[in-house]
Amino acid sequence: MRVKTRIAPSPTGYLHVGTARTALFNYLFAKHNSGEFILRIEDTDIERSEAKFEDDIVAGLKWLGINWDGEITRQSERIDIYETYLKTLLADGMAFYCPHSQAELDEERKKQVANKFSPQHTCDARGKKLGKGLIRFKNDTEKTVKFKDEIRGEIEFDPALLGDFSLAKDLRTPLYNFAVVVDDATMEISHVIRGEDHISNTPKQILLEEALGLQQPIFAHLPLILGKDRSKLSKRHGATSVIDYKNEGYLPDALFNFMALLGWNPGREQEIFSKKELIKEFSIDRVQGAGAIFDMTKLDWMNGEYIRKKPLKELVELSKGFFQFPISNSQFSMLEKVIALEQPRLKKLSELPEKTDSFFKEPEYDAELLKWKQMDNLTIKNSLETAKSILQLVAENGMTKENLEKLFLAKAGKDRGELLWPLRVALSGKKFSPGPFEIMEVLGKDKSILRINAAIFMLK
Ligand code: GLU
Repeated sequence: MRVKTRIAPSPTGYLHVGTARTALFNYLFAKHNSGEFILRIEDTDIERSEAKFEDDIVAGLKWLGINWDGEITRQSERIDIYETYLKTLLADGMAFYCPHSQAELDEERKKQVANKFSPQHTCDARGKKLGKGLIRFKNDTEKTVKFKDEIRGEIEFDPALLGDFSLAKDLRTPLYNFAVVVDDATMEISHVIRGEDHISNTPKQILLEEALGLQQPIFAHLPLILGKDRSKLSKRHGATSVIDYKNEGYLPDALFNFMALLGWNPGREQEIFSKKELIKEFSIDRVQGAGAIFDMTKLDWMNGEYIRKKPLKELVELSKGFFQFPISNSQFSMLEKVIALEQPRLKKLSELPEKTDSFFKEPEYDAELLKWKQMDNLTIKNSLETAKSILQLVAENGMTKENLEKLFLAKAGKDRGELLWPLRVALSGKKFSPGPFEIMEVLGKDKSILRINAAIFMLK
């Protein structure tokens, strides 16, 4: 079978990680099977669709490297096609115009809910040829609607519960369940892989496929993405838009890898997978039905792993945009050294400015921070004077981490912290930072001495 999948987002919000994960699974499945993966923008909801959201979805998928084949399709450009199908259904008596007002329908729904019936509308105006109003499907189905979900197995529905479900607001304003059926069939989508929140739409779509004599795709409904507390992922758990992850300094490859494991498991311990490996290994059989937990700590870890794999030059390029304070040309060469220092422990690029600002401007800190264990001001001062005197004797070309380490450790007492802690704080102004030798190598001799002097001055 020729495999063709799609992601069909509605441009009514920013690209959500749930949609991105669905896109990713469709992409991996298609590519694994040497098939096609397309992007279809479902923009028939004119009131809620916005161009800026389409732009965001497109940019987000591109950023993640979830590349679709061919041109983007927009439902708003296919209105004539839907109209043709609607006219056929109306002419064949399989669809009809419903005259009831929203208020009447709301009233009916309220009563049904109060009486513990699942809400649906079976219209009393099915036979009338009205020519205006909501277009509904005449649902006379008696037999159970069944389909085999690739992830969940056989699923059954009682068709009576669906009522005469709606197809379009008018001939030129189709609604989701109708447009999606026409599109999936005419675009020859072989597999519909989407979130489990669409399971309840599936019987309607199957009935429509049967009514229109269209080919039914294979369905696979992916598990919901849950927060750590097992409730549906929401803003409460952290960012839900792909753009937020980008702005936080997550790398696209890391997010790609992380999302691939949201519901799919490779069947072994390995967690870091390249795109190529994922394409090679992905299969629907290994997608679970139960909710997939979005573990932020794991994402941070994984992002760190990807940061460490990045060639330094690339990492510097990627990091530039995260610095809000101006970096002068002379400081620019320092940026590479500084980022090299942070690369081994960085979790996300947005941490860089705060972690490295002391390289670019004089540190500001509380004198208390200079204190190691029980040291008093005088001993701290003496320790800093010792550090300074060691540094003053170092030749400019001796300002390497290795050499400095050798010189300082030779002079350090039993508790190295007494020499190294005040020194490191004087240089960085921070409780946590790279070690003093690395910092001095980057800052150079003169700047390092100035900072030690500033610390000594604070203790007076
Ligand atoms: N436009 C629908 C959505 O964004 C598509 C659902 C589907 O894949 O059928 O949820």
